[in-house]
Amino acid sequence: MIAVVGIGANLGDARANVADALARLETEPGCRLVAASSLWRTAPIDAAGDDYINAVALVETTLDAHALLAALQAIEAAHGRERPYRNAPRTLDLDLLLYGDAVIDSPSLTLPHPRMHERAFVLAPLLELDPGIAIPGRGRAADYLDTVADQAIARLD
Ligand code: AMP
Repeated sequence: MIAVVGIGANLGDARANVADALARLETEPGCRLVAASSLWRTAPIDAAGDDYINAVALVETTLDAHALLAALQAIEAAHGRERPYRNAPRTLDLDLLLYGDAVIDSPSLTLPHPRMHERAFVLAPLLELDPGIAIPGRGRAADYLDTVADQAIARLD
């Protein structure tokens, strides 16, 4: 199964944290990193703090969706992420954006990620990896770019 993982960080050495998340995805049992986007810099949405560094990864996995989410949460925990309040700054945030074309609505997991089509920091790196990708139930990801045009985002070299 191919899964799409969103990565973000805005505390500490955010670039290093994103790079470490990619490295951990590569060595995670049952996972293989297929592709990683560029790093992108974005302003926080509904939150204070520094800019975020964001990326999107394509991961081939033998884990089921819930097990993959648990693996992502373990990587977050390894970065000592705390959640003192909603949308608090974070050393590392991993979101499961897509798991193949699965549509899931369970208490701990919603797929596709319910806000992915509203976020430039997801759409821009995702479209870099797969310009024609569709979001199950929503249509082509590219068709949402216009709706996030007001969100400041810049690709890093
Ligand atoms: P956050 O604080 O934004 O990382 O949200 C984490 C919470 O969202 C956890 O309780 C997850 O179980 C839940 N969640 C639901 N769907 C997803 C998803 N597709 N990716 C990541 N977390 C999810």
